[in-house]
Amino acid sequence: MSGLTRPKAAKGRGLSRHSAEDGNLVKSIDTKEIGKLPGRRINAGEQFRFRCHADLACFNRCCRNLNLFLYPYDLLLLKNQLQMTADAFIDAHVDVVLRPDNAFPDVLLRMRDDAERTCPFLTPQGCAVYPARPDTCRTFPIEKGLLYKAHSRSPETISLFRPPDFCLGQHEQMSWDLDAWSDDQAAGVHNQMTAEWAAIKRLFLKDPWGAEGPRGPKARMAFMAAYNMDRFRSFVFESSFLKRYRVKPALVRKLRRNERALLSFGFEWIKLFVWGMPSRQIRQR
Ligand code: SF4
Ligand code: SF4
Repeated sequence: MSGLTRPKAAKGRGLSRHSAEDGNLVKSIDTKEIGKLPGRRINAGEQFRFRCHADLACFNRCCRNLNLFLYPYDLLLLKNQLQMTADAFIDAHVDVVLRPDNAFPDVLLRMRDDAERTCPFLTPQGCAVYPARPDTCRTFPIEKGLLYKAHSRSPETISLFRPPDFCLGQHEQMSWDLDAWSDDQAAGVHNQMTAEWAAIKRLFLKDPWGAEGPRGPKARMAFMAAYNMDRFRSFVFESSFLKRYRVKPALVRKLRRNERALLSFGFEWIKLFVWGMPSRQIRQR
C-alpha cells in the first residue's frame, strides 16, 4: 500500500469478514439498490482519506478472514510471480465455488487453515506477492461495482469507500481521488481486465450449459480459457484451433508473446464458443 518504505513487503488490504456475495468486486448493482449500498460512494474527482503503513496497530490485520475473489488476471499474475503453472497454482491456492445464482464458478484464494484464516501470502513484513497482489487488494479500501442502466449498453462503474471499522488507515490525513489512488496502486490494468471479465460473468447469470450442466466439457473449456493460460496457450497453438478459427496473423504473433492479450482473447473466445457472439478477433472458418 502507499506510504510504506518497504514496497516488496508492503501490506495490502483485504475485505474483512464479508460474505462471498458482498465481497465480489464484479458484483452487478441494480439501480434500485444504489441508495442502499454500504460504504461512501466516491465519484470522479472526490477525495477520500487513506494511508496504510506498518506503524499502524492494524498492520496485517486485514489480510485475514477473507473471502478473496481471484479474477482471471489475478490468477495469471500470481502464478507467474510464484513461478508456478496455472494447474499447480489452482491445486495449491484456489477454491472453486459454484453458486446457485451463476452458471460459472467463482474462484477464491484458499486461506490458511489457521484460527484466523490468514492469507497464505501474508508475512510479518506484509504481502509476499505485493507486485502481483489481486485486484481486490490493490483497489482496497475502494470497492467497485457495475451499474447497468436500461438505456445504456455499457455499465457505469460505481466506487465505494469501504474500509472495515478496524482499519486505521481511514483516519490518516493523506487524501486521494480515484485516479490518483489507482495510479498509486498500479491498478488501472487490473481494473480494466476485471471489468472485461465482469461483463462475461454477468452473462452467466443465465445458464448456457443445457443438459451438460456447469461441470460438463463445454464449461470446463470456458474455465480453461479464463483461468488457465498455460492450457489455453496449448489449446490455441498446439491443437487444430487455428485451422478451425480465422485469426489475423498479427494477432497470432501477439498472442504468442503477450499473456494479457491471450487472456483477453480467451474472453473473446468464451463469448463466441458459449453464446455464438460475433467477434472481430476470431471467425469460424
Ligand atoms: S494477497 Fe497480499 S494484500 Fe492480498 S490479502 Fe494476501 S497478503 Fe494481503
Ligand atoms: S491501514 Fe487498513 S489496509 Fe492498512 S494494514 Fe491497517 S487494516 Fe490493513
